[in-house]
Amino acid sequence: MKVTILGNNSALPAFGRHPTAQVVSVYGELILLDCGECTQIQMQRYGFKWRHLQHIFISHMHGDHYFGLPGLINSMSLLGRTAELHLYGPKELMPIIQSILDVAETVLSYPFHFHALPEGSEVLVDNNSFKVTCFPVNHRIFCHGFMIERKTKGRKLLPDKCREYGIPAIFYDQLKQGEDYETKTGDIIKNEWVTEDGPSPKKYAYCADTIFTDSFIDIIQGADTIYHECTYLESDAAKATARFHSTATQAAQIAKMANAKQLLLGHFSSKYRDLEPFRAEASAIFPNSIATTEGTAYEI
Ligand SMILES: [Zn+2]
Ligand SMILES: [Zn+2]
Repeated sequence: MKVTILGNNSALPAFGRHPTAQVVSVYGELILLDCGECTQIQMQRYGFKWRHLQHIFISHMHGDHYFGLPGLINSMSLLGRTAELHLYGPKELMPIIQSILDVAETVLSYPFHFHALPEGSEVLVDNNSFKVTCFPVNHRIFCHGFMIERKTKGRKLLPDKCREYGIPAIFYDQLKQGEDYETKTGDIIKNEWVTEDGPSPKKYAYCADTIFTDSFIDIIQGADTIYHECTYLESDAAKATARFHSTATQAAQIAKMANAKQLLLGHFSSKYRDLEPFRAEASAIFPNSIATTEGTAYEI
């Protein structure tokens, strides 16, 4: 499970950095978190195939988190997409998208489903591969974070070993569940001889735009990786609070309180050219802090 940062800047693009968007890859499926301007261009640049994208989640209605949507939705139709697309976002989002489609008399080539976010925390998607839960954060306008949990898929088969021991393919599902295989002559083929550990469950908490608050700590508790915005350094803490944003120090405090393993920092203000001070400031509190760079895929 990986997250690739497509945009790590806040509202104004600066120094080659783009507004917020991230792609989470789970078992080959892509999940898009926010969709700032240039998202479709960034996805192309970093080699993502739109056909693997089925779920888009928009945290809130500030333009730096959704202005890339009309272009992306339209381009997928121009390419003749047929797979379903599910968009989750604030209820105000769909009328905007709809009017853009209506004035251009656009009929999308694919089934498009919009799901309005609830006010509180709720499970939005729960399938065999992953679960996505939204949770409210505290921003100037209604805003949600998202928790993405990758599910385990049992043990991983070693096909060469299975063939070597002559195990019939019909028994493979049981091997994935950890069972041993008994041959016709009564010999036991131990599960660990023909399988290895499968992918473990993983949790990624995307904390969107928020003022410093511990109100969602319970939900993100134990996440392997937390993304937390830090628009400002601590020297601008008053400005951060006034604008419902956070500092690098505050992001690190959240990661520490949540017992995370890794902290990804982003949503940097365009007033900062150099991002190293963000890493340095956060690392003093939470050592495994990373000031994200665009195009980098981080293992969760
Ligand atoms: Zn923002
Ligand atoms: Zn915002």
